[in-house]
Amino acid sequence: MNVDVSPSFASELLQAGLLIPMGSDGLYARSGLFESVVAGLDVMAGQLGADLHAERLSLPPAMSRAAFEQAGYMASFPQLAGTVHCFCGDEAHHRRLVQKLESHEDWTGEQTASDVVLTPAACYPVYPIIASRGKLPRGGHVVNVTAWCFRREPSRDPTRMQMFQMHEFVRLGTEAEVTSFRAAWVQRALGMAEHLVLPARIEVANDPFFGHAGKMMAASQVEQALKLELTIPVSSDETPTACMSFNNHRDKFGATWDIRTSDDTVAHTACVGFGLERLALALFRHHGLAVSAWPVTVRDAIGL
Ligand code: AMP
Ligand code: ZN
Repeated sequence: MNVDVSPSFASELLQAGLLIPMGSDGLYARSGLFESVVAGLDVMAGQLGADLHAERLSLPPAMSRAAFEQAGYMASFPQLAGTVHCFCGDEAHHRRLVQKLESHEDWTGEQTASDVVLTPAACYPVYPIIASRGKLPRGGHVVNVTAWCFRREPSRDPTRMQMFQMHEFVRLGTEAEVTSFRAAWVQRALGMAEHLVLPARIEVANDPFFGHAGKMMAASQVEQALKLELTIPVSSDETPTACMSFNNHRDKFGATWDIRTSDDTVAHTACVGFGLERLALALFRHHGLAVSAWPVTVRDAIGL
């Protein structure tokens, strides 16, 4: 499929009221239509893995700071993290805060970090939940999980949001189980893109690890092809957008959380993540802003 570059895609979306700016780049209210496309994709993603009889989990947009720390998020991605700070002072302290507010001074230092942070990816809170149950059953485990996620990457590009919804399937098991899970999902995802008449490609990718040491981690991730992405041209033809990712963590989270297989070896894990807004934006980009004009098969696939 040949797509023209559309520098005005962002403004068309805003003009059509599909996304409504909320005063910080990458933070949007969504119209009913936009959200119904997202909801349709969410259901479709779930159905794509129905044969796995996965455990269904729905997560809040925050997780425990202790789990976030243990997962090593601040070591790898401090630039993306969103922590939740709260006021927990007495009345004198409150007076100070109000004074600062009234004189338009920075009042945020009057708060302290709470024990929760914003969920950066749907799978992060899953590992400690599964670890708390003891050894995995024979054959391992699969979780089908959705969450609102936060990443501090403000941008005018509508595909780069600060808060977005992620639907993931998370596999925990032996190295072989995890490897074949990821390979199978690459094929499932390509089938989904074909069904949605979206021009998708699979590419080897890396996470945006911070700093100089991060560059080496990213290079090693690419070298071992631990992260694959399904990319679709959305905001630009030259730089297609990652709409899904397929991540093999090897035994990183198994070791971090002491997750063990039924024969007591450290579990391997993998996750496949659907970026629901990015997939929705890909549909609007390729089929137009009027859903009534979309191919019937595409509308049927997402129940519209
Ligand atoms: P990742 O954990 O970075 O592989 O993210 C999983 C999926 O979430 C990606 O493939 C995207 O589709 C989606 N995603 C990641 N970051 C953003 C963002 N800033 N805005 C919207 N969707 C995102
Ligand atoms: Zn994940």
